[in-house]
Amino acid sequence: AGSSSFVVVANRLPVDQVNTPEGPTYRRSPGGLVTALQPVLAQHKGTWIGWTGATTKHEDRAPEAFELDGMELYPVPLSPSEMERYYEGFSNSSLWPLYHDAVEQPVYKRRWWEEYRRVNQRFADATAKVAAQNATVWVQDYQLQLVPAMLREQRPDLRIGFFLHIPFPPVELFNQLPRRAEVLKGLLGADLVGFQRPLGAHNFLQLTRHVLGLRPRGDSVELPDGRTVVAGAFPISIDFAEMQNLAQNPEVIQRSEEIRSELGNPRSVILGVDRLDYTKGIERRLKIFRELLTEKRLTAPEVVMVQVATPSRERIEQYQSLRVKVEREVGRINGEYGRVGQAAVHYLHQSYSRTELAALYRAADVMMVTPLRDGMNLVAKEYVAARVDNAGALVLSEFAGAAAELRQAFLCNPHDLDGVKESLMRAVTIDPTDAARRMRTMRRHLRTHDVQAWAESFLTALDRTGRTA
Ligand code: UDP
Repeated sequence: AGSSSFVVVANRLPVDQVNTPEGPTYRRSPGGLVTALQPVLAQHKGTWIGWTGATTKHEDRAPEAFELDGMELYPVPLSPSEMERYYEGFSNSSLWPLYHDAVEQPVYKRRWWEEYRRVNQRFADATAKVAAQNATVWVQDYQLQLVPAMLREQRPDLRIGFFLHIPFPPVELFNQLPRRAEVLKGLLGADLVGFQRPLGAHNFLQLTRHVLGLRPRGDSVELPDGRTVVAGAFPISIDFAEMQNLAQNPEVIQRSEEIRSELGNPRSVILGVDRLDYTKGIERRLKIFRELLTEKRLTAPEVVMVQVATPSRERIEQYQSLRVKVEREVGRINGEYGRVGQAAVHYLHQSYSRTELAALYRAADVMMVTPLRDGMNLVAKEYVAARVDNAGALVLSEFAGAAAELRQAFLCNPHDLDGVKESLMRAVTIDPTDAARRMRTMRRHLRTHDVQAWAESFLTALDRTGRTA
């Protein structure tokens, strides 16, 4: 056994690699997960196990473990072909679409599965090496669903938690998955399996009955060996204080005013911020905007749309064809409704810093978050956190996990284009008193339900498992 009494296992380490003349070094990457877990790791001499983000040739040795902000970081090496099969293949071309309601057809290849299993084994072996006797291990997300069982086999002394950041599909969909029993058994290696919503936990427990013939009762299921696995909902959140502070920063306020004036001081700015992913509903959102312009219910340039579409998974074919479709629609809208120097849609296929995002959030009268399916959607929560002025309106898909909490948003069904149009029109024309009332209520919720509270509630529940009441 190793010496870490708390271990986080995730596909990625919370770092970005920066290349210097002396070789690569690492800088902490932004993100809610690391913000929430860093204090816990620092307090418990904890270790974070994950991939650095840079592939290594097979013969290369893994980079040494190193320390960052009181956390021990333990790199797991991945070669380019492992990356292609385990990550782009099984994780992002099989599991990702399947778990998001198969909004794109999942692709299954046996070689991808083999690599997924091999890479999961590598993460499990690394964890078994660094975890101290009776340590707590928290495994993150869909790339590592086999790790809990692989780890328990070597280290039955550990307390193991697993959290799935994306949706967990209903029985009929999950049943498509080749190797479905192995995936379920992998998850059942944990003492506590956490989901974004109660429905995910419910689907998981049902599947233990349908696929494995177990008998789930209430929020848990007993395994043949007598061990009990608990499933529950732990909706993830954001670092509310951080986003609120950013939004209050005078430079950010100034930048948000600058953005509005660069856009030509429109009456309304409609904003979308998403990874360029087919689950996010970007195409439909653009189509809705175009139809409203055609119907003259909105007019450019009094109303402009800004769509940030961060490059994502660019080697996967579905993402390449999505980009073509989105860019064609943007071109069509600007061709018909733009003017010289005044685009109707400002499309930005770029990645932005949190500071620039905060300024964009503050500059936006309406935020459109309309995914077809999304585990949580942190952008929706960030927008609310950034609106320290209690202004602005949020149009939010019912199919985002965030909709369970942000009830004062303009909720809509993203498949129903006319319904989304109505929600958007209501948001654009909202009176400021109504907007402030809605925003205040949502802000009050998020202030206490932040990412720190999320981590604490999961770890508290994990700590309680296995204790007889
Ligand atoms: N984000 C960012 N820069 C960008 C676009 C997005 O830093 O240009 C961040 C955004 O602030 C949010 C996260 O990426 O914290 C996206 O999380 P979300 O849950 O909305 O979607 P995901 O990309 O995880 O599916």
